[in-house]
Amino acid sequence: MTIASRIESIRLTLPPSTRLIAVSKQVSSDYIRQAYRAGVRDFAESKLQEAISKQQELKDLPDIYWHFIGHLQANKARKVLESFDLIHSLDSLKLAQRLDRLAAELEINPQVLLQVKVIPDPDKFGWDTDELIADIPALVNCQQLKIQGLMTILPQGLSAGEKLAAFEKTSDLAQIIENSSSLCLPHLSMGMSNDYPLAIKAGATLIRVGTSIFGDRIY
Ligand SMILES: *Cc1c(COP(=O)(O)O)cnc(C)c1O
Repeated sequence: MTIASRIESIRLTLPPSTRLIAVSKQVSSDYIRQAYRAGVRDFAESKLQEAISKQQELKDLPDIYWHFIGHLQANKARKVLESFDLIHSLDSLKLAQRLDRLAAELEINPQVLLQVKVIPDPDKFGWDTDELIADIPALVNCQQLKIQGLMTILPQGLSAGEKLAAFEKTSDLAQIIENSSSLCLPHLSMGMSNDYPLAIKAGATLIRVGTSIFGDRIY
């Protein structure tokens, strides 16, 4: 199957409210071009240096919308702000406050999502549900940031039923936060190659799909 035909078969399953993001980490610029020619404009990277070199190679495609989905190290925050359109992986209050200060210096209003773990998972970054609710007032004070929604990555080894429940919990949490703060959280970034249909059922607006578009990554 070609990249274009894989994209087409995923597209056929998407409701109009869900945007397909092609996760292009470990994937060459040539493959990104093939996805671009098939109509994809949203690409996600998890490593800053790798992303910057591809962005250089793809400078002739100015309407790509770049998503950052990796763990954001504090010393790379400024460069990430300058290089990406949406950061999915804002994962702590401390980092939010740092981005807020940098954004003020740069005179920008970066779009961000809050990474949450609705199922506790010591291997992943992000807020636990209760911690996130407790940090909302301080996040609201980060006024340079345009907080657009929640992002989640599920732990390994869940059944389909457990995955659906976890995605629904993420959606409910966005609702709870909206009802109790001034934030408006229209976006839910959830679902990857092996679980995006479940995420869509639970209301995902952004799905992050790598392997099902580009094939297995070779590390
Ligand atoms: C790699 C990655 C994906 C894509 O995973 P696939 O299983 O290849 O679709 C999605 N989200 C994040 C945060 C990732 O790191």
